Amino acid sequence: PRKFVVGGNWKMNGDKNMINEIINNMKKGPLDKEVEVIIGVPSIYLTYVKSIVPDTIQVAAQNCWKVPKGAFTGEISPAMLKDIGVNWVIIGHSERRTIFHEDDTLVAEKVAHALESGMKVIACIGETLEEREAGKTEEVVFRQTQALVPAIGDKWANVVLAYEPVWAIGTGKTASPQQAQDVHASLRNWLANNVSAQVADAVRIQYGGSVTAANAVELASCADIDGFLVGGASLKPEFVNIVNATK
Ligand code: 13P
Repeated sequence: PRKFVVGGNWKMNGDKNMINEIINNMKKGPLDKEVEVIIGVPSIYLTYVKSIVPDTIQVAAQNCWKVPKGAFTGEISPAMLKDIGVNWVIIGHSERRTIFHEDDTLVAEKVAHALESGMKVIACIGETLEEREAGKTEEVVFRQTQALVPAIGDKWANVVLAYEPVWAIGTGKTASPQQAQDVHASLRNWLANNVSAQVADAVRIQYGGSVTAANAVELASCADIDGFLVGGASLKPEFVNIVNATK
């Protein structure tokens, strides 16, 4: 059985007051102890959040660069994240791919370096509305996943895949449980054929895109949905209910 894993991607939101509220609310919980919880925090607040969260809540960066150090103004490295006790990083989020022009190759290079540095990675994939309407959903997510395969190598145990259809992100338009389940099942089947049956069976695939407390339970009941990557709702008290969606 795959351990349910819920990520909260705060994106570029929050200040110290808001962070205190979010963390206090999560501490009150109670959070299902069977669920792995990871919050994706703006880099400037990582140290602060690390100083106030209990060990039961893991912390992720939302991005990192592909080498340990050097002349890369504005970037942070996995080595730096590890230095402050952050062991997870979100890579390849659709906002990074679109707004910051990260392509499959760069995403793969970042994933490879983060894993080589001993970090765990939430690797994001997902099709745009245009691609879905053109019937290209599988083609796109398989291509994005294929790019990750050599980057991940034998380190699949340190990877969570996040399937986030771009049209569902921040739009209030959640994929239906059936739409999400279909893509998750296709991905798992693709992994069985292109990586290994063992990886396909073990890797956790999160769904992301307008997840709320109201739709989380039904989505969580789908066989191939092993967790969520939550944006907007991860800033709200309902994040606790989303973590507890399998209870
Ligand atoms: P929303 O939950 O706000 O749609 O964002 C999803 C997302 O992009 C998480 O990474």
